[in-house]
Amino acid sequence: MKIGLIGLGIMGKPMAKNILKAGYSSLFVSDLNKSNVDELVAAGATSATNKEIGENCDVVMTMLPNSPQVKEVMLGETGVASYMKSGSVFIDMSSINPVASKEIAAILAEKNIEMLDAPVSGGEPKAIDGTLSFMVGGKQDVFNTYKALLETMGASVVRCGEVGAGNTTKLANQIIVACNIRAVAEAFTLAQKAGVDPQLVFEAIRGGLAGSTVMDAKGPMMIAGNAQPGFKIDLHIKDLNNALDCAHTVGAPVPMTSSVQEILQWLHNNDCGQNDHSAIAKYYEKLSGIEIGR
Ligand code: NAD
Repeated sequence: MKIGLIGLGIMGKPMAKNILKAGYSSLFVSDLNKSNVDELVAAGATSATNKEIGENCDVVMTMLPNSPQVKEVMLGETGVASYMKSGSVFIDMSSINPVASKEIAAILAEKNIEMLDAPVSGGEPKAIDGTLSFMVGGKQDVFNTYKALLETMGASVVRCGEVGAGNTTKLANQIIVACNIRAVAEAFTLAQKAGVDPQLVFEAIRGGLAGSTVMDAKGPMMIAGNAQPGFKIDLHIKDLNNALDCAHTVGAPVPMTSSVQEILQWLHNNDCGQNDHSAIAKYYEKLSGIEIGR
């Protein structure tokens, strides 16, 4: 099977390496950043243009920032889709607006190209060790054919419905994560203002109903004042913009999403866009005049 992968950033690079490690040796790669491509060529991939990827590959994958980049790379004037063979498949692993996923799939269908939207959760560490969680939208038979390929990068690969369902699931994931981080920051701030050590609050409640993967991962970062990304505030703003846009399109109420988005936007405006999203705590620290855990 000849595979193309475009977008070799924080996530795409280790994912491409895991495809090679699993024994898929015909991997054609591209990225705007040449040093990313060089690293993959050293690992056994072939550097290729959009045209070469489209003409050669049975399946083309992307791991790009957002909908505009995916549309440009695939559907632009010299986009990959204009060179792809009838019967080939496109798998977009970027986190984009599900409305855009459906638009891209409809255009590709006219060329007899099937599409899966297959965003991931897990971040760079899980991209490196090949244990990402994939949320996939698309036809069942296409999913069945390419599940093994996704499993070279992920520990969990779940089909959530037709095209767009993968990115809808990712938006749900991003709403829950942002609101959960915010709740932890708000609760720790309350505890500290009331004279109780947030570290002890964390230890006391993490095994109960309020405990969560988010609290375990982000609570200690807040208490230590560690804002090293992880997952950046600016990327979370992008995801929640997509969530708000999708919600407005389908008529879903999202008041919690819009209010946490305002906090993220405030952080962006105050030079924290490149911080980890656990830096939502900084908003509460600024308002309350404390430093959580310190
Ligand atoms: P990144 O910015 O590190 O990588 C994006 C790559 O795309 C860059 O290398 C860039 O050069 C390349 N690129 C951009 N436009 C291009 C174009 N026109 N042609 C070719 N290459 C192009 O981003 P990332 O962190 O790898 O994230 C990629 C996607 O994965 C995003 O949608 C993000 O939301 C999602 N995601 C990220 C994480 C994370 O923790 N970083 C976790 C889950 C999902």
